[in-house]
This record gives sequence, C-alpha cells and structure tokens, in this order.
Amino acid sequence: MLAGELALGGADVVVLERRTGPLTESRASTLHARTMELLDQRGLLEELGTPPAGGPGHFGGTRLDLTTDSPYSGQWKVPQVRTEELLEGWATRLGARVVKGHRLTDLRTAPHTVEATAEAEPGPGGAASALRVRAAYVVGCDGESSTVRELAGFAFPGRDATRELLRADVADVEVPDRRFERHPGGLAISARGPGGVTRVMVHEYGAGVGREPGPPSFARVADTWRRVTGDDIGGGTPLWLNSFGDALRQAAQYRRGRILLAGDAAHHQMPVGGQALNLGLQDAANLGWKLAAEVRGTADPGLLDSYHAERHPAGRRVLDNIAAQALLLLGGSGTEQLRSLFGELLREPRVRAHLAGTIAGVDVRYAAGPGAHPLVGARVPYLRFGAGTDAAAGPGSTFAALRAG
Ligand SMILES: Cc1cc2nc3c(=O)[nH]c(=O)nc-3n(C[C@H](O)[C@H](O)[C@H](O)COP(=O)(O)OP(=O)(O)OC[C@H]3O[C@@H](n4cnc5c(N)ncnc54)[C@H](O)[C@@H]3O)c2cc1C
Repeated sequence: MLAGELALGGADVVVLERRTGPLTESRASTLHARTMELLDQRGLLEELGTPPAGGPGHFGGTRLDLTTDSPYSGQWKVPQVRTEELLEGWATRLGARVVKGHRLTDLRTAPHTVEATAEAEPGPGGAASALRVRAAYVVGCDGESSTVRELAGFAFPGRDATRELLRADVADVEVPDRRFERHPGGLAISARGPGGVTRVMVHEYGAGVGREPGPPSFARVADTWRRVTGDDIGGGTPLWLNSFGDALRQAAQYRRGRILLAGDAAHHQMPVGGQALNLGLQDAANLGWKLAAEVRGTADPGLLDSYHAERHPAGRRVLDNIAAQALLLLGGSGTEQLRSLFGELLREPRVRAHLAGTIAGVDVRYAAGPGAHPLVGARVPYLRFGAGTDAAAGPGSTFAALRAG
C-alpha cells in the first residue's frame, strides 16, 4: 500500500521482501469501511470486485451493527493473500520495484541518506546475492517483529500477553458452528468455511499463555477445545495452527529522522475484530503522499512529522478499543457484569454509532489546530457530483476525483 502511494506521489520506491512467494496462511480476512474507501479512492475496487459481505460485526463478542455514513458500511471478506496481490500489482504498475527473497539485515544512517543491506534468503526462489540500497528514507513495514524497528532503536513500550486465543483450521471434523459461545471454562468459536475446513478458536479462562515456541500443537488445541466445549476434534486433520496473545505495544515514535514505521511494525495488537490489517493500510495512506512530497522537495516543513502526530493517536485509540474487546471476550466470570452492562449500552443508538465508527475507521479526526473548521481533519466523505457541476472536477464522485492522488 505504501509503495503504491509513494509511487503515485512521484517517489522512486524499492521494496525489500524476505519472502520469495505469496503468503500461504489465511491471516486477516476482513476489510472495514474506511479501507474499502481508500481502495475506491485509488480505483482498486474495480479490480477487486465486490467482496462477499462478512455479516454482522461484534464488539468483544456482542453483536454490533457496523452501519456508518460510508457507502461501504459493514465488513468485507477478502483473504489477506488477495489484498497483498492486489496492492503489489498496483504498486508495481506505478513503478515500484519489489525485490523478493531479500532479508534486511543492516541499516546505516548518514546525514542525507540511509543505507540498507539485505541478505539473499537461502533456498529455492531465494535471491542470488546480497543487496545494498542507498535511500533518502526507509520505512519499516516489516511486521510485528520488525527488523527496522530494532535496528533503528525505536522504543516499543507496552505489555506482554497474559491471555491467548488458540486457533486451528481443521479438515475432517464435524462440529456445530459457534459464534462467541461462552462455557463455564472458556470461550469457543467455530465456523465451517469453504472446502469443508472448520476454523476453531478457543480460550480457556485462567490458562495463561503457552510456553512452547512457535505455534501451539494440535494436541493442545484439541485438549483445550474438549475441556471447554466437551467436543472431541482430536481426530481431525490440522491444516494451520496459530495462537494470538493479548500483548499490546506501540512504537513511542513513528519517525526517527530518516526512518519511519507503519503497520504492525509500529503497533502490535491482538487481531480481535479484524482491525489490525486495516489500521496498517490506513497508516500507509496517511504517510505515502507526505513522504513522496518530502522526497520531491515540495513538502511544507513539518508535513512529514504530521504522520506521527496523526497516526500515533489514531493507533492508540484502536489499540485501546482492541484491549477493551479482548477483556470482554477473554475475561472470565469476573467480567460478566461488565459484559452485561456493555450489552445494554450497545443497544443505545449513539453508543452503537460511536463504536461502529471507530471499528470502521471512519471517525478519525486529526487535530487541526485552534480555529480550524470542524471538517478539517475529517475524512472526505463519499459524495456524488450532481447534474450541472463541472465535469472537469472528476468523473462522478469525491472518491473518483481522488484517484490521481
Ligand atoms: C498468523 C497471523 C494471523 C492473523 N490473523 C489476522 C486476522 O484474522 N485479522 C486481522 O485483522 N489481522 C490478522 N493478523 C494480523 C495481520 O495479518 C497484520 O496486521 C497485517 O499483516 C499487518 O501488515 P503489515 O504489512 O504491517 O505486516 P506483515 O503482514 O507482517 O508484513 C511484513 C512483511 O515484512 C516482511 N519482512 C519481515 N522482516 C523482514 C526483513 N528483515 N527483511 C525483509 N522483509 C521482511 C515479511 O516477510 C512480511 O511480508 C494476523 C497475523 C498473523 C501473523
């Protein structure tokens, strides 16, 4: 996303990616309204088509209607691998160079440049040789264990996980669909997806966080599932195993000189409510045109710093929202009263609209300084141009008029 935005803004972009091919796991599957708007503003929805609607949303497991003023209200099901393919195709067409099979290992800053070293990844499809790139800026979009964040010494305060949700995609099992089902010992979710694969997610109250490195064993997931629900899935075939902790961290600064962070590199959160990927794409949309202007020499002083000033608080707000949802979802019997109070509040239209606006990402208001018009800092809403307006203003809508960036 960032490579596309930068290239659209006239910057020369190189993406160093350690993977040699596309993702093979399912990861994020939900696009929210604001992300759909951003894709529309770049003409990318025409290529994506209309994704299947994801049904009603939820807040910490309690049903939440996600209707907002966006034409893309609701949740849209797009596998992450498809989103990545769409954005890579777009960025490449705009001139960004994506260099795969190269793992960033070193960064050196000089007064006007940053030099990045990337080692060739071994194995089939891996690149033949190491690479050195000298750039005006480097942005770490390298995920939750960001090498850029580490090499550049960004502080990453927050807290470690104390609870976890175990997840498995399993073939050859028959279990009923469960939507946030609460049992005395924990929480169980299951849904049969395309191809007969069932995704199960389970949390056992008070169980803490697994100590094994890497993904949980299928035996642990199946044992936990049995203790919580009484059902046996141990005879199924695990296709993908994973666990999510409720750790919460955010880079103290999104910029240190010529090095910036975006996406999971800048914030680590539990993917409850499917906001993680959306938050990252929205960071990239905020940063792209500013950094491109800075590189072209047309940015006002302070423009690039407005990325941190705007996106850090926006990220903090989403992280707080995710933490509250994680507590409602994974808190044991001690949170029953809180859940029931939340259930009551969610029936209030203003509360519903407030939470839907945050999850959809459409209520972001960047601080615009004293005396600014109240609409300054808000997103451009979708408006159709009626008959009689100047056709040169754009082909039909505010979103279409933004396509050139
Ligand atoms: C297993 C799993 C399941 C998830 N499920 C969900 C979900 O259901 N819903 C949801 O909203 N979110 C989910 N997430 C989170 C979501 O996938 C992330 O928020 C999203 O991918 C963040 O995008 P990103 O581009 O910031 O980072 P990433 O997608 O992590 O991309 C980082 C990229 O950087 C590359 N990279 C890393 N280090 C280096 C290096 N040193 N040199 C070169 N390249 C490097 C990686 O190969 C990767 O391609 C899940 C995450 C994981 C790990």
